[in-house]
Amino acid sequence: MCGIVGYIGTEDAREIIISGLTRLEYRGYDSAGIALYGSESKTFNIYKDKGRVAHLESITDFSYKSCLGIGHTRWATHGVPNQANSHPHTSEESRFFIVHNGVIDNYKELKSELLTENKFYSDTDTEVIAHLIEKFSFEMNVDEAIRKTMSLLEGSYALAIIDTKDESKLYACKNKSPLLLGIGDKGIIVASDLMALVGYSKEYIPLKDKTFVEISGNDYKILDIIGKVVKHEVKVIDVDYTNIEKGEYAHFMLKEISEQPSVIRTIITKYFDGEEVILNGKVKEALEESDRLYIIAAGTSMNAGSVGRELFEKMAGIPTEVHIASEFAYNMPLLSKKPLFIFISQSGETADLRAVLVNVKAKGYRTLTITNVKTSTLAREADYFVEIHAGPEIAVASTKAYTAQIAILAILAYGLSDKHINLRKELSKVAISIENVIDRREYIETLVKEYLTKRNCFYIGRGIDYYACLESSLKLKEISYIQTEGFAAGELKHGTIALIEEDTPVIAIISQRDISKNTRSNLNEVKSRGAKTLVISTKGVHEHDDQIVLDDVYELFSPLLTIIPAQFIAYYAALHRGYDIDKPRNLAKSVTVE
Ligand code: GLU
Repeated sequence: MCGIVGYIGTEDAREIIISGLTRLEYRGYDSAGIALYGSESKTFNIYKDKGRVAHLESITDFSYKSCLGIGHTRWATHGVPNQANSHPHTSEESRFFIVHNGVIDNYKELKSELLTENKFYSDTDTEVIAHLIEKFSFEMNVDEAIRKTMSLLEGSYALAIIDTKDESKLYACKNKSPLLLGIGDKGIIVASDLMALVGYSKEYIPLKDKTFVEISGNDYKILDIIGKVVKHEVKVIDVDYTNIEKGEYAHFMLKEISEQPSVIRTIITKYFDGEEVILNGKVKEALEESDRLYIIAAGTSMNAGSVGRELFEKMAGIPTEVHIASEFAYNMPLLSKKPLFIFISQSGETADLRAVLVNVKAKGYRTLTITNVKTSTLAREADYFVEIHAGPEIAVASTKAYTAQIAILAILAYGLSDKHINLRKELSKVAISIENVIDRREYIETLVKEYLTKRNCFYIGRGIDYYACLESSLKLKEISYIQTEGFAAGELKHGTIALIEEDTPVIAIISQRDISKNTRSNLNEVKSRGAKTLVISTKGVHEHDDQIVLDDVYELFSPLLTIIPAQFIAYYAALHRGYDIDKPRNLAKSVTVE
């Protein structure tokens, strides 16, 4: 969600910032802006507007050299996306320019208590920060003014700040929202995501909450709010930028759907030694010692978590609960005696999850993060961390991270089970079966044209198929904007069946022997009421007129396979409607606000 890139050094700030913002585009945003210092003209300029980074590029003056700048992609939380609300924002007398990611919870109080005289030009919660820094700068040094401002802010922020009276410095600070410092030979970058640093810096420092950074030339000081030096860890960047290019694919989503077999194979190579699963001893111990697992997640990761619950309970016999992070954070249920909290997040930056992590850690509970980004906040802050090895996922709608999360959950559950199956073989079988679906994607495209003709759609299934339906419907609604519900097949008749009318598309997922007949009865119920039905089934339970029949895999792993045609259904439905598949409206990849 949104992004910050700031640079000071001897290279062209504009180029580094614009290319950094472009690489952060996948996180989701609605406006973009940049402030630059012209080294020869000795002037500061701001360019900003609603819209894409490409539009920002088109309105930015490229004719002068600049070696200091801050850039921003905004995901509006306060105030509509328009030019005035776009960042950078300036202070009352325009001395300070700032960009901000996050949300200031007490901005109204700060405005009405401390800034009664000031005139504001935007509806954002951000502008107040620039005004406060300037107000305090009349009485103290700039670094103190920024730290004093930090001490008053409640909420989340990653900030990059320019003082127009001193072009030899760049300031940054953060709380809750991610911010990294990239150390290069020719300058220093601050950015909210490693992607913006790749190629410019070999090393980076993940900044801790409530830290402040003053950068001048190649020097930087990292301090806490009261000005005490904070110890930090310098890490090496080992991300390959070639992994974040589309190659021959029309969209990142199509590329990422197609990568799923190789992701599963990568996971096998990382977590197996021959037929044996290799689990970190401490992770295994934490899982074994807990009397109940609490999976905390949001969106697609929560749908993977629901499959995870089935795996932990049915394969390993450990009671498991799955919770929506934003609910759990403020409405915690009664906990068992020895809980283990498992956080599932593609980006490892999800603010809703972090709120829970901070809370349960303070209570002394053990925590494990499952994520795709080993450098992320949740990976760093949990007691244990398991990487899903999906490779960079750029399309906002998650595909390969979902299957990778489930594969990892299967490995963890298997590690605690009586090992009655050959997991390596079963996962390899899933990879081959996914390839068989990928090969038939053009056929799925024809089905989409025939069936997905309405403004709404239902996915129905039972048991583990129901969880696959939840993810399938999320995929379809997030990129095609078709209003889609994933429903427990047996529950539809208790009310929602009222919405079924002539030609309403209802897609059933059927992969389990013991309940396939029940789902088929529910399918007949909607068919009799006019629904246009489409069935995704597996060979062992299929009927002759099912439209999509998949290979048989180990039943508990079927969500790894049944989701593939659903991902294609979503992809083609969005493609035929002409939508921006990789960057659907209103959505962000990395949801860094609560
Ligand atoms: N809350 C700020 C705004 O609405 C920042 C949003 C962001 O993180 O992009 O402008």
